[in-house]
Amino acid sequence: MRRAKRVLETIRVKSEELEAIGDNLIADLSPNLTNANIEWIMETRQYQDTAKPAVTKTGEKMGSAKKAGPIDRMLHRWDFRITISGNWWAVLSDEQKKALVYHELCHCYMKDGKPTLVKHEFEGFLSELRHCGAWAADLKAVQEILAPQLKLVEDEEVPVAGADYPRQPETVENSATIDFGTG
Ligand SMILES: [Zn+2]
Repeated sequence: MRRAKRVLETIRVKSEELEAIGDNLIADLSPNLTNANIEWIMETRQYQDTAKPAVTKTGEKMGSAKKAGPIDRMLHRWDFRITISGNWWAVLSDEQKKALVYHELCHCYMKDGKPTLVKHEFEGFLSELRHCGAWAADLKAVQEILAPQLKLVEDEEVPVAGADYPRQPETVENSATIDFGTG
């Protein structure tokens, strides 16, 4: 039976925790964003059917990165707004939290003083890589990075394309927002 996943309330707050992690990552890994003004938002949905929703089943995005348009920048004084799911945050390890924040930062790039969004650098599926090998250049680059991890899971049941936990299939990325978790 399909369970109701009705969202009762969505709480959005500016997060100093996210900002601190983000600032450290920018200092170490993303010098391009040193002067970018990033608004860090923790967004927590409360569901009707359970106090502790299984985030892997609600289809909730782990995070998203949005760039400000000219009017946004003028009115809100931010270049990027990075939103992280509080429900996901609650179940991630410290290492995964850092990785998620870094993932969103990788979508953000200041070009000639203006915020731009960066798409994922390779398009494909991990299951494609497992089944077919590195048949394209971008897959080869990914394989070199992931080879140790892929070896560890090669005996496990192969999921359908795009279903590799915790990631879910990519959806359409528009020019203003890029999400992680469902796209
Ligand atoms: Zn992404």
